[in-house]
Amino acid sequence: MNADSSAARVSFKLPVGGGFLNASATLPGGHTTLTQLLPVIQNLENAIVARVGEEAEQAGSPISCRAGCGACCRQMVPVSFFEADALAHWFEALPENRRAELERRFHSALLALREAGVIENLVSDGWTADEESATRLAIDYFHAGVACPFLENESCSIHPIRPLSCREYLVTSPPDLCSDPSVNQVAGVQLPIKLSRVLFAFGQRLAQDRPGWVPVIFLMAWREGGRNPGDYVSGTGEEVLLQFLKQVTEIYPNTNENSQPVEMPAGH
Ligand code: SF4
Repeated sequence: MNADSSAARVSFKLPVGGGFLNASATLPGGHTTLTQLLPVIQNLENAIVARVGEEAEQAGSPISCRAGCGACCRQMVPVSFFEADALAHWFEALPENRRAELERRFHSALLALREAGVIENLVSDGWTADEESATRLAIDYFHAGVACPFLENESCSIHPIRPLSCREYLVTSPPDLCSDPSVNQVAGVQLPIKLSRVLFAFGQRLAQDRPGWVPVIFLMAWREGGRNPGDYVSGTGEEVLLQFLKQVTEIYPNTNENSQPVEMPAGH
């Protein structure tokens, strides 16, 4: 496959839990960045979440997350630089009145978080020092009760392109309990693989610091700051996918110890 080739269909296996997820994807043609590969990664994440949902149902504890429940959308949502980049491009293409509306929403949310005393901690590096500081910030953020600016009528207004972190937050407990996750009654579902973490790892290397992501609430500032990952991870679609899958196996080396972690056909 060369840089000018058209879109290619590939199939591969990803170890998930005790088995494999058979996945296939149509890769972008030509020179591709990790940002451009996001639709493939989002579909892969959806497949992982669906598999986990099936397993939870079979175990008698179905996922209780439903459309119209936005309780978890008051948490601090980490967005990888690549997703922030894609959302910035999406934002630029919106009609002017919708852009202005969203900018107002982000501005109001930032003011509310500042009044709650959260912003100062968020912009300082202190909360990244250890798990305890990060947990404290997450709880303070949630208790401020500020909804994600993309939440409208308790539903995500960007559902098809929402961040991976949002896709990965699943619970089996009654939705009411999510009104305060800090009381430890929420039964969260542990995903065997979180693809958000894979993108954060690329972000850490790109930014040369922790945490390698940006809180969704800072999306507008991030966009204006022009911190664009650009060609940081790029090549043909297949090369970028292979880099991504290699990073998956580096972060999750023991997902399936007896098996080849990733298999891709050599030609397409
Ligand atoms: S992006 Fe959507 S799903 Fe994620 S926190 Fe915001 S409203 Fe909720």
